[in-house]
Amino acid sequence: MKGKMNLIVMGPQGVGKGAQSDDLAGIYGIPHISTGEIFRKNIAEKTELGKKVSSYIEKGELVPDEVTSAMVFDRLSQPDARKGWILDGYPRNARQSEALDEWLSKHGERLDAVILLEADADTIARRIQKRIREEGRSDDNPDAIAERLAIYARETKPLIDYYSQKGLLRRVNAEGSVPKVTAAMREAIEK
Ligand code: AMP
Repeated sequence: MKGKMNLIVMGPQGVGKGAQSDDLAGIYGIPHISTGEIFRKNIAEKTELGKKVSSYIEKGELVPDEVTSAMVFDRLSQPDARKGWILDGYPRNARQSEALDEWLSKHGERLDAVILLEADADTIARRIQKRIREEGRSDDNPDAIAERLAIYARETKPLIDYYSQKGLLRRVNAEGSVPKVTAAMREAIEK
């Protein structure tokens, strides 16, 4: 891989964004930046940010855009992000994608690709069940899952068109094993 690689990984909850982003980040040697993970770490460590965001996350609601975008841009400015990054879970609505566009142009950077992971409803339901058993996330309860699904449909899905119109969208079938899907992601990015 030459130069910088700035990627977004999109897709519904449970499709495998976290596992795939981790795998790809290891291969490209760039950080996997998951907004959900950063929030959960702050909640576990009881930081000011954690206290501010925990009630939103438990209910499956979006954390306010200003809080989320400020946190993301701070993270993108860290030294390890100079070679690029994989954003997982951001942007999640139009205001966030506009904020990211502004940040990119202000810093003379651009997106290389937006990968949309797609899988059957059955596969996704199975993966969410597996996560519930293995991770015990406080927002993996029926009410919060339903809220996240509604927000995805209403606020995040329109970004698919937004990035498609910019010629950045790459649809990738996320049905197979992690390495198999990673290979498909690489092909979509590098072709
Ligand atoms: P995730 O791990 O991506 O499923 O995110 C878990 C939770 O963190 C979400 O349900 C939101 O409450 C919050 N969150 C993560 N990313 C964002 C974002 N880009 N904007 C607002 N809230 C977010």
